[in-house]
Amino acid sequence: MIFCEKCFLDSEIIPIIHECGEIGECQICHSKNVYIYNTDKHDELTNLFEELISIFTPAILLPDTFPKSEIRMIKSELFSNWNIFNRRTESEIYGIVTKVCKERYEYSPELFDSPIGLKELYETDYIEEHSLLTTKTWEGFVESLKSKNRFHTHYINLQLLDKFCSYIRKPYKKGTLFYRGRISTESGYSKDDMGAPPNDRASEGRANAKGISCLYLADSIETTLHEVRAGAFDYVTIGTFELLEDVIVVDLKRINLISPFIFELDCREHAINKEHLNKINNEMGKALRRSDSPLDYVATQYISDFIKSRERDNKAVYAGVEYKSVMNETGYNIAIFDESLFKCTDVEVYAIKNITYNKQKI
Ligand SMILES: [Zn+2]
Repeated sequence: MIFCEKCFLDSEIIPIIHECGEIGECQICHSKNVYIYNTDKHDELTNLFEELISIFTPAILLPDTFPKSEIRMIKSELFSNWNIFNRRTESEIYGIVTKVCKERYEYSPELFDSPIGLKELYETDYIEEHSLLTTKTWEGFVESLKSKNRFHTHYINLQLLDKFCSYIRKPYKKGTLFYRGRISTESGYSKDDMGAPPNDRASEGRANAKGISCLYLADSIETTLHEVRAGAFDYVTIGTFELLEDVIVVDLKRINLISPFIFELDCREHAINKEHLNKINNEMGKALRRSDSPLDYVATQYISDFIKSRERDNKAVYAGVEYKSVMNETGYNIAIFDESLFKCTDVEVYAIKNITYNKQKI
């Protein structure tokens, strides 16, 4: 079987197909002149997929207490729970994995042709040691922060959170430009007025508690206009911010897209935490209404504060966190912990001509 790089989304698989160095036509998605992988000639992907598939247990070997709703075929599991394949159907995924893992398929066909489940997901001892959340659910974690203990919770495994963050590091080079908007008058604000508010005037945000200043920037002017929720006929001052040194941020919008094939990553541990990682991603990107309570921010503030606290040689490891923009689907924001990493180099005033409302009857 011949498939190509375009059949995949996974950040570890695509470079391996590139390294095979063969260009041709894909038998699955029919792309032409693309890097291809021929399962008759190559075996670089075999170990990776075998390792992932072997974390699952055939349904007949699962304990009776294992919930039937969590049992499914491997092709469905890979299709719906993992971000490995690019728009491929379950039957195409089945075809790819049975060819990549052809020997394994020969001596353990039950993993591919019969239902499977992730046994450890319901093993108390395993979960206690390897789950990101000891409360077992995200909702339990949020509730504990809101009403039990805000600063010293035991409900999250910080060592594990640190590990997951290390897989989604995103470097930015000195000179990269970001934007910040403020609703203003026609004459606009000066560069000095475009930075983060001082601590005594800092209100709470997704990545900062009240009283702790944080510089929120966006990837484009378009995103800032959405983020400040500019209305028709408003004037908005847009500041351009230039990064003054190379930095690394934690790209939280990828926290649920971590590749299971990263060399040092424990596939099984990753699999049992997928639900929690999805929740962190959803929570970071959740739209908040004006009427929402500041307590709705506590979980993301807790995670951002932890990331901010990571140090090596008395220097912060991460400059901030990146998350997707709720207001502009294709855009993203970064929350920068230390605003002196940026300099406002330019300001421009925009007049909003019109805006479009998308609605749904409740
Ligand atoms: Zn393809």
